[in-house]
Amino acid sequence: KKLGIALVGLGSYSAGQLAPGLVNTEHCYLAGIVTGTPAKEKQWMSQYNIPKANVYNYENFDEIAKNDAIDIVYVVLPNSMHAEFCIRSAKAGKHVICEKPMAVSVLECDAIIEACNTAGVKLSVGYRMQSDPYTNEIKRLVRKKTFGDVHYVSSDAAYVSRGNPDQWRLNKSLSGGGALLNMGVYSIQSNIYGTGMNPISVAAQEFSTMPEYFKDTDETITAQMQFPNGVVGNLFTSHNANANRLFVSFRKGWAELNPCHNYGPLAGRTSEGKEIKFPHKSQQMLQMDDFAKHIKTGSTNVAPGEMGKRDMIICEAIYQSIREGGKTVPLDLGTMGIVK
Ligand code: NAD
Repeated sequence: KKLGIALVGLGSYSAGQLAPGLVNTEHCYLAGIVTGTPAKEKQWMSQYNIPKANVYNYENFDEIAKNDAIDIVYVVLPNSMHAEFCIRSAKAGKHVICEKPMAVSVLECDAIIEACNTAGVKLSVGYRMQSDPYTNEIKRLVRKKTFGDVHYVSSDAAYVSRGNPDQWRLNKSLSGGGALLNMGVYSIQSNIYGTGMNPISVAAQEFSTMPEYFKDTDETITAQMQFPNGVVGNLFTSHNANANRLFVSFRKGWAELNPCHNYGPLAGRTSEGKEIKFPHKSQQMLQMDDFAKHIKTGSTNVAPGEMGKRDMIICEAIYQSIREGGKTVPLDLGTMGIVK
């Protein structure tokens, strides 16, 4: 049986990526919607053949508990709303996918994880790259030591963001933070899968060329992560630059993805002059099928809640380092959130 997914929040990511991805999924399908905008209901119902019984708003959402057609709730709202809706979904007995960043604080991540554990439902974070073959090829090169041990990783995750200065991403109370929480999490993710390890400390710096536009949220952040055995990782994230890549330096060579963090097609190559190349598939389709398979068969949860929480711990450490003038902040993560 295909599992039924309900999308909460029908903004640009749901409309542009998730719903189209769900047209081709094998293990799940778009069964329902939760929206605060009545005008979207009709259009989505007819476009995706969704029955009225599977349409909710933010007020009557909790009634979804009684709806057997919905197995998974996917929360695609502004970051500060993730915790509330993930917890309500868990209490309704539904499995949960929470978009990235998982929440706006580590405390909220803990509350989501606890709610899911208490309810006995599965939880995953919208880290689509964890289901992408390019990411998994880098993970394979690291694990197999094809080019020896990793010594250095660098990842840029940035785009130039303009337009409505009132958008939620520039409003700290809705976003929880700027470039770091939006794009920086991709750089954190790729530093970690590019080394196969969690960082043991981080030091960070913040920059701004347009402080009047980015007045409430971080525009540009750089950070240096120290990993075990002297391995070093570099992070660059910005809402005011175009950069989208991962570079992994091994003892005997290197591998690169550029672009690395967008919806694809991605591209990569290694120091041997070989292209890293896979047929392009919707990352969102792969991601949602991976989670549905995890629920149905107990296969690996490739982006568990602990992974989202770990990344939020690193984000909080980066903000702490910036507040403290670039001080190195130690991290004690062990293997938290590492999925081989
Ligand atoms: P968006 O602004 O396009 O959509 C947000 C949705 O939330 C809209 O439907 C809006 O009506 C609704 N909403 C409810 N209350 C709101 C409020 N108080 N203010 C603003 N909107 C409100 O945003 P998006 O790009 O779809 O992002 C939604 C989430 O998805 C974010 O957490 C974002 O980080 C994540 N996202 C992930 C990826 C990815 O590649 N994994 C890509 C884009 C967005």
